[in-house]
Amino acid sequence: MAATLFIDGKWRASSAGRIHEVRSPHDGSLVTTVDEASAADVEDAIDAARKSFDSGVFACWSWRERSELVGRIADLLERDAKLIAKKESDDTGKRLIEAEYDVADVVATFRHFAALGEKHDDHIVDVGLAHVTSRIVSEPIGVCSLIGPWNYPLLQIAWKVAPALVAGCSFILKPSELTPESAIHLMQLVEEAGTPLGVANLILGPGSVVGYALTTDPRIDMVSFTGGLSTGKTIMVGAAPTIKRLALELGGKNPHIIFADADLEAAIDNAVTGAFLHSGQVCSAGTRLIVERSVHDQVVSEIVRRAKEIRLGGPEDLSAETGPLISQSHFKSVENYVAKGVAEGARLLVGGVRANREDLVNGWYFLPTVFDGCTTDMYCVQEESFGPIMTVEVFDSEREAIALGNDTIFGLSGGVWSRDLEKAARVAAGLRHGTIWVNDYGPYRPAAEWGGYKQSGNGRELGSHGLSEYLEIKHIWTNNSPSKSGWFHDSSGGDVQ
Ligand code: NAP
Repeated sequence: MAATLFIDGKWRASSAGRIHEVRSPHDGSLVTTVDEASAADVEDAIDAARKSFDSGVFACWSWRERSELVGRIADLLERDAKLIAKKESDDTGKRLIEAEYDVADVVATFRHFAALGEKHDDHIVDVGLAHVTSRIVSEPIGVCSLIGPWNYPLLQIAWKVAPALVAGCSFILKPSELTPESAIHLMQLVEEAGTPLGVANLILGPGSVVGYALTTDPRIDMVSFTGGLSTGKTIMVGAAPTIKRLALELGGKNPHIIFADADLEAAIDNAVTGAFLHSGQVCSAGTRLIVERSVHDQVVSEIVRRAKEIRLGGPEDLSAETGPLISQSHFKSVENYVAKGVAEGARLLVGGVRANREDLVNGWYFLPTVFDGCTTDMYCVQEESFGPIMTVEVFDSEREAIALGNDTIFGLSGGVWSRDLEKAARVAAGLRHGTIWVNDYGPYRPAAEWGGYKQSGNGRELGSHGLSEYLEIKHIWTNNSPSKSGWFHDSSGGDVQ
């Protein structure tokens, strides 16, 4: 096995000799083994990142030079796209074709930040004094810990690595233990593209151990984290003593509102895709359907019909529409979630159990599930399952639709369907979520910001704000005509000779 930790520009094995097995969610087979970092490895990675940043070896590159580096990484990602997609689908169990789309999105992310960096300029502000030049400059924030989840492993870390590099930061990357292969490949490309030694470091290992060290160490200036709410809270507590900047991208329980006057065919189709794509393992999954009472029966019966027909299958199955859940423990948590929903009185219309097809029984396949008759006080309405589970609530007025959509601790995303665009715009304005789709559900583009309100997080990725997260803003005030301040009464009255 080749060494898989990248520290201070060198690939090396775990100093404790620890190895982690990556298993296929599709059939449980061994995909690969990777190194698991020891505390000493983490220490070395933080040290390397800190030293490289403090030496100014990368921060002194011009914006153009750093943008060109990120552009070169995009070229290399494009060159290796098929290989990376295969690794990604092996680790996640997702369809190969979906992983190929993800890698294309990763390339687009690197190109977006490269272009943004090319355009970046410091600027002068007018402070109303003719003798003063006030320059506002952006500088890299410093050493960043970049921690990602397993559902879109490479994409979620691309949203962090690309802007961190354009900004001139040094970083330590930690992908999910379940899905490390694409991050290892990315770091090979970051190295090949000519990133200075020590700027980019890769640590693999369990979040509760190595992730904890990466989020509490005083030498870390910023943590950019994508993952679950409870981990986000732990990180916030650990980062508090040293006032690290935090960009937290957490979970969601996303309302998908359908008015009776919507294009129902398109709305139903998008509701099915929004809830069940990637078996619901999508932070923005539209798992909370909120439908106007007069069309409830029609919409729900059609969703149930389609949910029954969703084709499950492994990465190479071209006819499959979705794949397995990521792991046994996640599978068990989804099973428990369904049991809770049934116990609290939600009406199970379809699914709720493991797929029993012979070719799927060795994997973590869970059938698309719909709960009707749901109310906001239910666990299954309020908590994220991160599985293929849709809950259905009804509303009678525009006001009620907005109130239901906001009755959640989360605020990541939501959708609204209506042919009345003024009404849809009012609802979009009323919803307290970071992204709202009107007459659509799910797409995003690197040019537009992504992030959550409320307990879905406090950061922004993509867009231009996704770069700002990695920058400190400095104001340099230059007095072009120096004079005495006039505050101190100097009894000598004399000037310094
Ligand atoms: P998770 O369990 O919170 O893990 C996320 C990452 O954090 C993993 O790399 C994990 O390491 C690490 N980690 C765990 N404990 C840690 C700690 N104490 N300190 C530092 N790092 C720690 O989340 P997940 O199950 O991977 O991902 C699913 C969640 O991510 C869902 O809630 C989903 O909504 C959210 N998500 C949000 C967005 C968004 O844009 N807002 C996007 C995608 C996913 P190990 O797993 O290797 O132990």
